[in-house]
Amino acid sequence: MAEQTRFGTAGVPPTFRMLKAKMYDVPSLLREEGLDAFEYQAVRWGSQPQITQQDAGKLGAEAKKHDVRLSMHGSYFINLAGKDDVISASKERLIAGAIAADWMGAYVIVFHTGFYGKLEKSNAFKSCLKALKEVNQTIKDMNLKVKLGPETMGRKFQVGSIDEIMIICQEIENTQLVVDWGHLHARDLGTFKKVDDIRVVAEKIESTLGSKMLQNMHCHFSKIEFSSQGERKHHLLDEPRYGPEFELLAKVIADFQMHPTIICETPILDIDALKMKKMLQQVLEGKTGVDP
Ligand SMILES: [Zn+2]
Repeated sequence: MAEQTRFGTAGVPPTFRMLKAKMYDVPSLLREEGLDAFEYQAVRWGSQPQITQQDAGKLGAEAKKHDVRLSMHGSYFINLAGKDDVISASKERLIAGAIAADWMGAYVIVFHTGFYGKLEKSNAFKSCLKALKEVNQTIKDMNLKVKLGPETMGRKFQVGSIDEIMIICQEIENTQLVVDWGHLHARDLGTFKKVDDIRVVAEKIESTLGSKMLQNMHCHFSKIEFSSQGERKHHLLDEPRYGPEFELLAKVIADFQMHPTIICETPILDIDALKMKKMLQQVLEGKTGVDP
C-alpha cells in the first residue's frame, strides 16, 4: 500500500481524559475515531524518563497493533544555546526522552532547539549544532532507534527558522524535519495567506533537503495568534480571525505528493485532526474551492 498522510493528536484528547482512559488505551481510541498518529507529551520531563519501560512498551505494543504511528514531544526545558551547565542539562533531558521514545517505538523525538539569548544569532546556532552532534553520538552509542526532530519555532527569540531547521537536518545525521506551520506563520507575522506562500516553503525544502525529506516531513498544525514578537496562542481551525487555513497546506500536500504525519495542536486535538483529514480527502478528490 502506498504511504499516506497520517493524522493524530499532540497528547491525550480531552474526551479520552473524561473517559479516564489509560495511556495504553489511547492508540485504539484514536484508531476508532479514524486517526493514526499520536504524539506522546514528555514536555515536563527532567533528566530521567517519567514513564516506566514496561508502560512505554505497553503503549508501543498497542500502537503497533492498531497501526498508530508514535512520536514524542521532548522536554520544553531545553536550550542548546545557553550556558554550559544549561546545555549539559538540556542534553540529558533530550537523551532521557530519546531513551523512552526507543522503549515505546516512537519514530522521532520532537524538540525546541533553544533561545538566542544575548548571543549573536550565528553563535547561538553554532552552539546548538555542536550540542546536537554530541546528542546524536550518544543516541548512536546507546543504539536508540529514534530520530532527532528539531521543530520550527514561532517566536523571534527562539532558534528555529525554517532555514535553521534545514541546516540542522543537513548537518546532523539521523534527523527528521519537523515543520510547525502555525509557528512559521506566527514567526513571520502572518506569512501564509495563499497556497503559493506554502508552496514556496515546500520548494525550498525540496531543493535543499530533497523530495524524500519533504514528502515525509513531520508536521504540527493549529491556527495561531501572534504579536510583534511572534507566537502567542494556539487556536481552533474554526476561528476565522486566525490563520493559517489548513486547506492551503492540503493543496500543497496533494501537489507535491507528500505523505507527512500531521499532529494537531489546537485545543480540541482529535476533533480538529479529523477535520483536517476530511479537508485533505476533499482536496485529493478534487472537491475544493481553494484557489491555486
Ligand atoms: Zn513543539
